Amino acid sequence: MAADPVSVLQKLFGFPDFRGVQRHVVDRVLAGQSTLAVMPTGAGKSLTYQLPATMLDGTCIVVSPLIALMHDQLRAAEAVGIRAATLTSVDENKAETRGRFLDGDLDLLYIAPERASTADFRDLLERGRVALFAIDEAHCVSEWGHDFRPDYRLLRPLLDRFPDVPRLALTATADEHTRADILDQLGIPTEGMIVAGFDRPNIRYSISPRDNTTRQIADVIRDTPGPGIVYAQTRAGTEKLAATLREATGRPVRAYHAGLDPEIRRRNQAAFVASEDMVIVATVAFGMGIDKPDVRFVAHAGLPKSIEAYYQETGRAGRDGDPAVAHLFWGAEDFARARQRIAEVEPQRQPGERQRLNALGALAETAGCRRRILLAHFGESPPATCGNCDNCLSPPNAIDATETARKYLSA
Ligand code: ADP
Ligand code: MG
Repeated sequence: MAADPVSVLQKLFGFPDFRGVQRHVVDRVLAGQSTLAVMPTGAGKSLTYQLPATMLDGTCIVVSPLIALMHDQLRAAEAVGIRAATLTSVDENKAETRGRFLDGDLDLLYIAPERASTADFRDLLERGRVALFAIDEAHCVSEWGHDFRPDYRLLRPLLDRFPDVPRLALTATADEHTRADILDQLGIPTEGMIVAGFDRPNIRYSISPRDNTTRQIADVIRDTPGPGIVYAQTRAGTEKLAATLREATGRPVRAYHAGLDPEIRRRNQAAFVASEDMVIVATVAFGMGIDKPDVRFVAHAGLPKSIEAYYQETGRAGRDGDPAVAHLFWGAEDFARARQRIAEVEPQRQPGERQRLNALGALAETAGCRRRILLAHFGESPPATCGNCDNCLSPPNAIDATETARKYLSA
């Protein structure tokens, strides 16, 4: 291994330098040490396995929960000249991909977790050369996480068949409990955990009770030039809200949701990515595969699914580091609906879900610093005031807030 990671970074990816903890993670992986990297969305987790994959002898097996995202990643990797393939139920060239793996002609092989348990796949891996297991969205392995996927539990037996191959688990969204569970479930030592800073100082957080959501969001759009994302609660709601907001603000506003005609959806997404003033009204699925650095605001028309989801969705604003705003408008009925939803999930998952909802309630209801509550949830202990959230900028009447909090949070 003669090459130096920085020169590979510059030559292959065209980036001048590593960001944040990337270098630390890459060094561990190159040294063969199993690692859990907890890094916020947009921090550049993919690079921490892609780069070592090009330097190590053998293939990096990447476990990823969504086939659609896998294909985006595949295209991105191939674009910089990384030898990559996917092996999923929708791929037609499986025999060719297997051959490439056995010939040592792949840096990256993306798979869905359910493949990990098949004897067929295990045999394939044993006949070739595996350099690294990268487990993306690793919180899916934990029942404490906000997105548990039972298939992720099938990984451990496979990993254990390759005791000399290091494991790299990646997640953006893990509270302390979930992190400990990921380490445990995937057999990664505690000292292998690297947590990056979660603070996004350029995002101003603002959370208000709803009175007239449409008017409140129209005000946000009028006050905030530049591209923005509005998260609606339902598919039907997105189109109606988009039309109303277009009318009310005179800005270009389009809808995006999974039920739209694929061609229209593709066109709206492309138009948004290219635009400097468009607002997209979407369901929360929008934004996952999108790399648009100059989003100036994200507005939630209702409560997100969890505090992790709030962090992730608001995190799509201001990736370029310039000032951005995150508005959330909520109502008591949002909490009631969320509690009802929790009552319907499997009993063993209820405590985790309830804790996350309460964390969101505390964030919505606090008279103190929003950023502090948000970061505390991710295990950081920031100063008591941030100077860049609604409450720090104009302290509210504390008595009202605590009163409503008590009403909605007592389950
Ligand atoms: P994550 O999975 O952590 O959300 P990604 O891996 O998708 O993030 O990376 C987000 C963006 O950051 C991508 O456009 C990627 O090319 C870019 N990026 C990653 N590492 C660097 C770096 N060292 N310098 C500049 N840009 C980077
Ligand atoms: Mg990622």
